Amino acid sequence: MPDPERSGPCTAIVVNGTAYIVDFGAGMVRQAAAARKKGVQGLEAVNLRIAFLTHLHSDHTLGFPDIILTPWVMGRKEPLEVYGPPGTRSMAEHLLKAYDADIKIRTGDLEHSNTTGYKVNVHEIQPGVIYRDRNVSVTAFAVHHGKWRHAYGYRFETPDRNIVISGDASPDGAVLQNCQGCDVLIHEVYTQASFDEVSPEWKKYRLAYHTSSKELAELATKAKPGILILYHRANPGCDQARTAECREAGSEEQLLKEVRQAYSGKVVAGHDLEIY
Ligand SMILES: [Zn+2]
Ligand SMILES: [Zn+2]
Repeated sequence: MPDPERSGPCTAIVVNGTAYIVDFGAGMVRQAAAARKKGVQGLEAVNLRIAFLTHLHSDHTLGFPDIILTPWVMGRKEPLEVYGPPGTRSMAEHLLKAYDADIKIRTGDLEHSNTTGYKVNVHEIQPGVIYRDRNVSVTAFAVHHGKWRHAYGYRFETPDRNIVISGDASPDGAVLQNCQGCDVLIHEVYTQASFDEVSPEWKKYRLAYHTSSKELAELATKAKPGILILYHRANPGCDQARTAECREAGSEEQLLKEVRQAYSGKVVAGHDLEIY
């Protein structure tokens, strides 16, 4: 939702100063700059080079042109490496086509932008180990997200912590399998109270596409993460209804209350720019 205090979905795993970005929500490059101001050098715009997409819903990709073009305008020389589901290449190609005039002017006249940093190397991936370097090993796993044929969660293995990100998903055994006592589980969620407020159509949508507080509490009880971070706190159906009661039913306080009712492990509601 267009909330001025919350930018679109985007998570950075920073290992030994290198940033690995997951999802390109609206406002992501500006938020990376805000994190850099807080001292995370790996999130300097020119350092945004390695990135992963969970799926191609617009809320996760509105920042795609931003992460392609802004770091390049700031001086990034390396192409952006993007790992994502089938369809990612076509999206990248269409975006570059849309900005063709911009790229021509910036490289061909007085701005003297370099001729490499706007390029995108797309790696369309299938589930499995899809990336490895001296800092991380990244595994993609398939999750259920309604009609999307390809939606992934990711497991990052780093020297000190294993981190699992659900992406957008209905409750999924793959998250459980990939966490199994992981250090950090970052999972999407909506409140049961807001579910009760929405129309039958929106209930159907939520059940097929997302995870409720109760479902997540059950999953986390089995997965036993060191810490559960709630993210992508969505409120579909209520966002469209725009009533005060419906919004209240999806509040952070309500969410934490519901999760804690059925889950005794450590849990926090994530906010923009928080570091764990
Ligand atoms: Zn989403
Ligand atoms: Zn989605």
